[in-house]
Parts: sequence; structure tokens; C-alpha cells
Amino acid sequence: MTDRPGDTDKFETMAVTHAEQPSHDDRAGDVTMPIHLASTFEVGGIDPDISLEDLNPDENQYLYSRLSNPTRHALEKRLAALEGGDYGMAFASGTSAIVATITASVSPGDHVVAFDDLYGGTKTMLKELFRERLDVAVDFVDARDTDSVSDAVRDDTALIWMETPTNPLLRLCDIEAIASIAESVDATLGVDNTFLSPYFQRPLELGADVVVHSTTKYLNGHSDSIGGAAVTSDEELANEIGFLQQVGMGNMLAPFDAFLTLRGLKTLPLRMRQHETNAAEIAAYLDEREGVSTVYYPGLESHPQYDLATRQMDGGGGVVSFELDGGLADVERFVGELDHFALAVSLGGVESLIEHPASMTHSPLTPEEREEIGISDSLLRISVGVEHPRDLLADLESAFEVLD
Ligand SMILES: *Cc1c(COP(=O)(O)O)cnc(C)c1O
Repeated sequence: MTDRPGDTDKFETMAVTHAEQPSHDDRAGDVTMPIHLASTFEVGGIDPDISLEDLNPDENQYLYSRLSNPTRHALEKRLAALEGGDYGMAFASGTSAIVATITASVSPGDHVVAFDDLYGGTKTMLKELFRERLDVAVDFVDARDTDSVSDAVRDDTALIWMETPTNPLLRLCDIEAIASIAESVDATLGVDNTFLSPYFQRPLELGADVVVHSTTKYLNGHSDSIGGAAVTSDEELANEIGFLQQVGMGNMLAPFDAFLTLRGLKTLPLRMRQHETNAAEIAAYLDEREGVSTVYYPGLESHPQYDLATRQMDGGGGVVSFELDGGLADVERFVGELDHFALAVSLGGVESLIEHPASMTHSPLTPEEREEIGISDSLLRISVGVEHPRDLLADLESAFEVLD
């Protein structure tokens, strides 16, 4: 694989071409990475001196696609470059990237400190898999307050697990400050960067040890692939995560999804800029609109952590949540009136979506648990797409007028 001079290229350039060029001797000269569906690759001959670890995908040496595959390898290199890391690994889902990364970082008997406002699946994984079955102690803290993290860490803390902004209330934590807490107890800091993508936030630059993604969301960006990724510059950690991806769990991304995600990444900067422009307009509109009691968007000056947002993020992202001034019946009517916002979970695609956390993403929680986090029955979350903002605003306005 001949690298374009990716290390010195700008983000927009890497997003389009980094690691794209195949360099098979027999290549047709494709300007895009083909989908290599082969499960196995012909080797040159029997060589007792070559072991598995010696195979170098950068030199087109492949053996078996679970271990490494040219299309996946190109994606892994690009993801690493965009996050500013040395090693990238692509997984079958965000969930599988997270379970491999946490497993690589902890052993039975270790302690984990995690944000109490994590993605639901991750929180359940930490409780029911790591705590209940694998004897890992897990403390959940409100990491908006950095002191609550420093108070919770112990000598045996092996991992601090963060997400910022969180879902659906867009709460932030200070990655740089938490990285120094992690360093003080020699723990790994993992950050789920799904909500902003590396275009708006690069946790490794802020001191995190490893970044994970659900590529299902902004990185692929077209709501047509489930995938995940882990990126780190720590060689030892990369070896552990790679072992789990390829051998311990075998939960790598398939070539077709790697192709889709490589293709999606080409327009990541363009999409993120439009997501943000549209989200900022919608947030400002909701902030003024009668019938809305609260708006949650880190790009709004009224966000309680706006200072931190401007320090650690290059943009507010594309997710906006808000509280309707009304009950469940009003929420149902409002959502039913919308034409440009499909009622669906997930986020980060080019099309706008709306979801009702209490009955959809956060319905596995009890009403008491939801109340504790701050998820009411009148909360709605919008994943703002890249359509023309005037159409989106007109659609929202007509739904509000039905309630007025
Ligand atoms: C969707 C999501 C996940 C889970 O990813 P899957 O691809 O659905 O497995 C993890 N973290 C965050 C923040 C997410 O939004």
C-alpha cells in the first residue's frame, strides 16, 4: 500500500484519499479502494521463516480476511489518520469496538470509573458483563464535574471511560483534565467520540489513550452500515485490541461495510459543516420558540458548559435535544406532524431524524432511572441532517402551530 503523504495533509485531504490507493501489481489503476471480498489469499510459497506477525498489509501481504483485509486495512489507516493516532481497528459495530477496547484495558479485580450518562448499551455492558460476570468494579460518576472523577479513582483503577457530548442531553466532560487524572493513577482513558467525529473533536490530542466510534453514525454518515472503530497510538494497547478483534473475538468489520465507510468518510468534513450549520439554526430557533421549555445544544451560549465546548470542540455537532412544553399527547401530535424528520433511533446520517428517548432509546430504563438522569416524557432528540435548513425549520414551525 503506497501511502499518499497523509501525515502532512490537511483533514479534508486525508478524508478523501488517505490510504485509498491500492498498489497491487495487477491493479487496474482504480482511484478508489475496491471491495476485496476474498476470505483467503494465495501465498507465494512455503516459508518456515515467516510467521503470522510478519505479514505486513502495508506491503500487500494478506493471509485470511478475519486477520486483515485490504479494504478494511485502508479504512483502518484512514480512521487512524483522522483521529491523529497510529493504529486503527475496524469492528462489526460500535458495540464490538467498545467491548474489545474495555476488555483490552481491564482484568478481573480491576476498577473502572465511567460517566453516569453513557450510551445505554455501553452502560448495560459495563454493569451486566464487566461488573456482574467478569468481576470488574465499576463506579459511575457525573463527570461534568471533574472532581467527581478524581474522587472516584483508586490505585487499582485501570480504566476511565468517557463520552462527550452525551446522549441525549449533550453533557460534556473535560477530556484534558480527566486525562491528567488517568495519568496520575496510571489508568487508560477511553473516549467514545461518536457524537462529534474527529472533524469536531480529537480526544487523543487532548490526552486520551484510545478513542472509539460507532461508525454507524457520522463516520459512515448515510444510515446504511453498522460498524465501529478503535484508534490509539499506544502500541501495547493496539496489540491487545487487535488480538481481540482478530483472534479473541473475531468481530471485525466486513469488506462491504469497510468500503461504504471509506466512501462515507470522503465527505465527512462537508457533511459535518452542514450538520452543524443546520443544527445551530435549529437550536437558535427552538431557543426562541414558544412551546419549548429547554434546549440542549453545546453550540448555544446558554449551554451550561459552553466555555468547555469552545475549548475542546471545533463545533457543536449535529444533535439537538429539547423539552416540549407539554405532555406525552403533545409530543405524539408534534412528532406526527413532521414530514422531514423520520421518527427513528440512531443519528449521524444525512437525513434528519427525531426520536423520543423515554419511549425509544431509553425505554429499557425505569421511569425513576430516567428521572435521575433528566430524561422526561417531553424530551425529544433531533439528529439534524444536511437538508436545506429552511425546509427543516418550516417543518418544525408547522408542527408547533398545531400545538399552539
Ligand atoms: C450508537 C452508539 C454506540 C453503539 O454503536 P453500534 O454501532 O450501534 O453498536 C455507542 N456509542 C454511542 C455514543 C453511540 O451513539
